[in-house]
Amino acid sequence: MDLTYSPAAEEFRVDLRAWLAANIPARWAASGFWASLDEDEAFDLRRDWERRKALAGFAGIEWPVEYGGRGGSPAMAAIHDEELARARGPRSVNTLGLTFLAPTLMAVGTPEQKAEIIGPMLRNEVIWCQGFSEPGAGSDLAALRTHGERDGDAFIVNGQKVWTTSARRGDQIFTMVRTEPGSSRHRGLSLLLIDMHAPGVEVRPIRQMSGVSEFGEVFFTDVRVPASACVGGLGNGWATAMLLLSFERGASAIGQYTDYLRAFEEIVRVAKALGRDGDPVVRQELARRRVELECLRYHSLHVLTEVEQGRDLGFASSVTKLQWSQTYQGLFETFDELLGPDAALVRPTADVDLTALRRESFWTRSVTIWGGSSQVQRSIVAERVLGLPRGS
Ligand SMILES: Cc1cc2nc3c(=O)[nH]c(=O)nc-3n(C[C@H](O)[C@H](O)[C@H](O)COP(=O)(O)OP(=O)(O)OC[C@H]3O[C@@H](n4cnc5c(N)ncnc54)[C@H](O)[C@@H]3O)c2cc1C
Repeated sequence: MDLTYSPAAEEFRVDLRAWLAANIPARWAASGFWASLDEDEAFDLRRDWERRKALAGFAGIEWPVEYGGRGGSPAMAAIHDEELARARGPRSVNTLGLTFLAPTLMAVGTPEQKAEIIGPMLRNEVIWCQGFSEPGAGSDLAALRTHGERDGDAFIVNGQKVWTTSARRGDQIFTMVRTEPGSSRHRGLSLLLIDMHAPGVEVRPIRQMSGVSEFGEVFFTDVRVPASACVGGLGNGWATAMLLLSFERGASAIGQYTDYLRAFEEIVRVAKALGRDGDPVVRQELARRRVELECLRYHSLHVLTEVEQGRDLGFASSVTKLQWSQTYQGLFETFDELLGPDAALVRPTADVDLTALRRESFWTRSVTIWGGSSQVQRSIVAERVLGLPRGS
């Protein structure tokens, strides 16, 4: 494991840190700032800020320069995530497009798709959603039923998607559609790019327990989609989707570590403010969470070293997903236990905004579900990484 970064990567860190210092207003970093804003106001602020970051050259860090990226290394991408978390920069509003669709297009998109989609996405001119999950097709994606019937040079798409992140603010959605009549499971699927403003597309927001509506349902009723808006070949959707999902396997969770360390420090401040920091059970719990965080850091650096040395992580990336999501969720279980059954009644402390931490605690309930649930990830690790026999 290499615990150091190259001089070029450190130089990049200095430049990025300076840009972030000059472009993140101090009030943004205050605990509770984002939770205090209206949902749409927060989205617009993040969207514009991220656009300016891209124009300044601090987006698409690992992407080739020809696509508007920086042509950097995995270590530089990790530094980007780390510095962003350290400076309390806002989360991306276009994660699904940037993480999944862009690299898929770079690999298998047509020249027109590459030219028309990647640049506007990087600058947040177009917000992308992911339309994979359906009622009855989540972990078991091959059970999806949204279908498209061929009509000349187009498909007429009907069906429903669910849990679609940014559905209410999305412009386009990359969607898994059954395009071969009578096909089942992995066969006869296509990845279609659908305009969310087209006639027949209806979005219904879903209100989460945190009070916000970050995701929603998307209904397609006789939506006309040009057959040319297919990525990776008609009927080849399963292979395209597997390629697309492989890009979620980030090189490391060093950005998450930095962000969760901030949450840990805030939770310690809450323990002090409540006078619970002398309680031996609380102290042991906090110590355990701190150790878990350091394990996440060293695992991330180990993975980053492997990637920098050109090794393919393959299914071992499931270990990283499991580790960051379980660590994050566990940290907030400690927070919930700290506040106890009266959590909603506890008043804010002087320097920590409990509303934001409560909202974050709700959010952590979801991180072991999306991007492959923990149960599914454990099966992958058991069978594909450890070589244990398949479960029945
Ligand atoms: C915050 C959030 C954002 C999301 N955003 C999007 C999005 O933008 N686009 C999109 O397409 N989807 C999105 N999703 C959906 C997400 O991908 C699914 O929730 C996920 O795939 C699980 O599917 P499911 O909810 O249908 O649960 P199910 O697949 O029905 O699973 C229910 C339970 O059974 C377990 N289980 C299922 N299969 C197995 C198995 N083979 N072995 C062991 N246990 C199993 C699961 O682990 C889980 O505990 C989002 C979800 C969340 C929570």
